[in-house]
Amino acid sequence: MATRTDPHSPSAIRPEDYRCVLVFGLARLVDGWPTPSYNVDRIVELRAQLGRKFSPIHSATNQCDICGASFLDGEVWKHEPTGEHITIGTTCADKYNFLSNEDVQRERRERNLFVQHGIATGKYRAERRASKIAARNFVRENPALRADLIDGKGHHIVADITAKLIKWGSISPRQIDLVHKLANEEREKKANPELPPAPIPADIVDVRTTITGRVLGTKLVDHDFGTSLKILVEVPVNGGAFKLWGTCPSSLDGPVRGKTIRFAARVQASRDDKHFGFFSRPTKASFVEEVA
Ligand SMILES: [Zn+2]
Repeated sequence: MATRTDPHSPSAIRPEDYRCVLVFGLARLVDGWPTPSYNVDRIVELRAQLGRKFSPIHSATNQCDICGASFLDGEVWKHEPTGEHITIGTTCADKYNFLSNEDVQRERRERNLFVQHGIATGKYRAERRASKIAARNFVRENPALRADLIDGKGHHIVADITAKLIKWGSISPRQIDLVHKLANEEREKKANPELPPAPIPADIVDVRTTITGRVLGTKLVDHDFGTSLKILVEVPVNGGAFKLWGTCPSSLDGPVRGKTIRFAARVQASRDDKHFGFFSRPTKASFVEEVA
């Protein structure tokens, strides 16, 4: 190997002749994931500006102009007597006691923070990517789960478990069972699309009126004077509906549940729910023939 005669060689170096121009960090791979570089764009500028006075020993940016070793975290120092700028590793700057000031120390700290953040981000992304691959394999080995995840994705719990699967790479047998149960419910819903949607709650307006509505449910209620059949009636109004609770008109003959009935009654809204109310003293009750 040829003996170096330049002023930057390990035997000739005089740290007091140099001034720090730039602190930089090179891009690196962390678990296969590239992390961003720090100040490398300014090296490109310096190289264009200085030509042969930039890194005259080793043209490679990642090779130390003092010792020749490659590095990731480096600095550009200007040799004041010749105007030559050398790129060296930060470890070499310390090793050869280059005289760094507060500004250089601060720049190094910022570079280190930036690099650490980049590495942490890279590791996080690498882990996320590994989990995604694991999740994909997990689903591939469970074809039934795959079908359940697809059919059940409209359900928020299934969506939540899917997110967990992607994050962790697998889910527990209990979670698989739950997804299966919810997916079945979603499939059933799709198989019965004619189920009417719940009507929009409507306000109760009238006090004494004729009511036409469908009996949603019935209940036998015991009281001091005997037993009454109470009914819950859904009354459509203005595209929505309200619900009323009261005693079944005695003139109605036969089962009422699911039937549409009409009667006159006094109506009162519930104190805390204006979409729900009570009717009393029903008269003139009849069944309404439903349009099939
Ligand atoms: Zn070095």
